[in-house]
Amino acid sequence: MTAKTILVIEDNEMNMKLMRAVLQLGPYRMVEAADAETGLDLARNDPPDLILMDIQLPGMDGLSATRIIKADHELRRIPVIAITGFALDVDKENTMNIGFAAYIVKPFSVKALLETIAATLGDSSFDH
Ligand code: MN
Repeated sequence: MTAKTILVIEDNEMNMKLMRAVLQLGPYRMVEAADAETGLDLARNDPPDLILMDIQLPGMDGLSATRIIKADHELRRIPVIAITGFALDVDKENTMNIGFAAYIVKPFSVKALLETIAATLGDSSFDH
């Protein structure tokens, strides 16, 4: 199986380390950005198969960044999973309006994260 590229946009280094540890359990190549602006540049230069988007970011937040992605002809096909510390950041209405594929509330389990990624990629390798 070809490794899927996952772009992680996350400003917290502890959370990024956790993502690194989790994603290496799957057939994934991880690309990292610590802010939305860098993440958008990376997505344009090397379109990932999926984006994990922290919502609370310095500068542009994850909701604005995802709106830009979903309005972009080249980027809109990329599924975006919101990663949030607050369920209220990404309520059901936001999820539908902005176009997130899914959202995960911190703290999340490794299993839940991998299953959500696999389901979003249409990959059954983590189904049990
Ligand atoms: Mn954050």
